[in-house]
Amino acid sequence: MAAFATATSAAAASASAAVIRPPRAARAPAGIRCSVAEGPAVSQPRAAGGGLADCVVVGAGISGLCVAQALATRHRDRAPDVVVTEARDRVGGNITSVERDGYLWEEGPNSFQPSDPMLTMAVDSGLKDDLVLGDPNAPRFVLWNGKLRPVPSKPTDLPFFDLMSVGGKLRAGFGALGIRPPPPGYEELVEEFVRRNLGDEVFERLIEPFCVYAGDPSKLSMKAAFGRVWKLEQIGGSIIGGTFKTIQEKNKAPKAPRDPRLPKPKGQTVGSFRKGLTMLPNAIYERLGSKVKLSWKLLSITRMDDRGYNLTYETPEGVVSLQTKSVVMTIPSHVASGLLRPLSTAAADALSKFYYPPVAAVTLSYPKEAIRSERLIDGELKGFGQLHPRSQGVETLGCLYSSSLFPNRAPEGRVLLLSYIGGATNPGIVSKVRDLCS
Ligand SMILES: Cc1cc2nc3c(=O)[nH]c(=O)nc-3n(C[C@H](O)[C@H](O)[C@H](O)COP(=O)(O)OP(=O)(O)OC[C@H]3O[C@@H](n4cnc5c(N)ncnc54)[C@H](O)[C@@H]3O)c2cc1C
Repeated sequence: MAAFATATSAAAASASAAVIRPPRAARAPAGIRCSVAEGPAVSQPRAAGGGLADCVVVGAGISGLCVAQALATRHRDRAPDVVVTEARDRVGGNITSVERDGYLWEEGPNSFQPSDPMLTMAVDSGLKDDLVLGDPNAPRFVLWNGKLRPVPSKPTDLPFFDLMSVGGKLRAGFGALGIRPPPPGYEELVEEFVRRNLGDEVFERLIEPFCVYAGDPSKLSMKAAFGRVWKLEQIGGSIIGGTFKTIQEKNKAPKAPRDPRLPKPKGQTVGSFRKGLTMLPNAIYERLGSKVKLSWKLLSITRMDDRGYNLTYETPEGVVSLQTKSVVMTIPSHVASGLLRPLSTAAADALSKFYYPPVAAVTLSYPKEAIRSERLIDGELKGFGQLHPRSQGVETLGCLYSSSLFPNRAPEGRVLLLSYIGGATNPGIVSKVRDLCS
């Protein structure tokens, strides 16, 4: 067994992307105004010129880069001068793909949902030929009573899957049809919504393990976390009623033509790139070029009357200030909270309330022969991976079969597995990982 990476990171709580604009931004000549504060440690900044930037994007994680790419291409007429500033010396934020010794692994996110906006961003970034999509027919497993049980991937699997009892399946079926207690009239949590609509077994065996990667279903709002499912009950009186209504409405509405450049994923799957997720931020960075300022850490924001904002940075050249008409913040919400406090106490208070659960990503490699034969399909470890409900006594939240999901993740004869540990229900993992690393 070879252990490759143990990484802790503040996890996937919703990213803060706050746009702030002055009340009436005055038109200013194109170009960026950039000045250097006086003092012995200060040198000439890299960007110079006159006028206000149209927009400064703070943070070059995937949110900041996608906003900047959209502004620099599709909305060029609205914001010709865009600058992206990033505290670290690299782009990508949480996205960390590592390639070494014939392995390719992810220390942050592992994949994305191949929705049309996501595919558009990949194609616009020149990565169409580098896209890789998982096999939609590969099974997903849930550990229940000591056995890994496949999750149904289509409605016709439902009567045969053994993850739930007959009573549990009937409860889920009647509930989905609307034979269940009515909505309580307040904003329900994920756990409350699912137990009421679909019963305890669906919650404990299907929803909780899919949800616990970062969040706690007994604290997350159903409307905020799974708005599309929540809406079904609102519009159709039940989950099935809402599904039919949505399909009817979709069929009635004229179909917008799909961008012919986009690949069509077959079925429910996840995507990545040939050399890992990091290809996307790197490709956008390459396209944006000198618009991206690395190692620029935002220290403060002040409003300049009605003319925009003055941003002060710590940079390798010393303290630098940038003036801009608008700012897009894509940094973690607790960092944004501190920076925005002088401008809006209400915004700072709201942003300080987001909880980022800690998650450790652990990648392990084994020789193929180390996998138990009953786990093999046609001699291979096939599938997306496995999830472990909290009730099953396994601390690891779940494990992705990275080398089965995407090509070229491990040398011939080896398998690569990515496990996540921690999450909102196990924040103590941080101290354990520190002990392990030391
Ligand atoms: C372990 C793990 C697994 C995940 N798995 C998945 C997955 O499989 N699929 C999925 O879709 N999502 C997943 N996520 C969530 C996903 O990674 C995040 O939603 C996404 O990366 C957030 O991107 P972002 O650009 O909003 O923020 P970040 O990636 O946090 O980027 C913010 C950037 O702001 C910079 N910054 C901070 N302070 C300053 C400052 N003062 N000045 C300038 N810059 C600053 C940071 O250095 C950083 O680069 C996972 C997350 C984790 C941690």
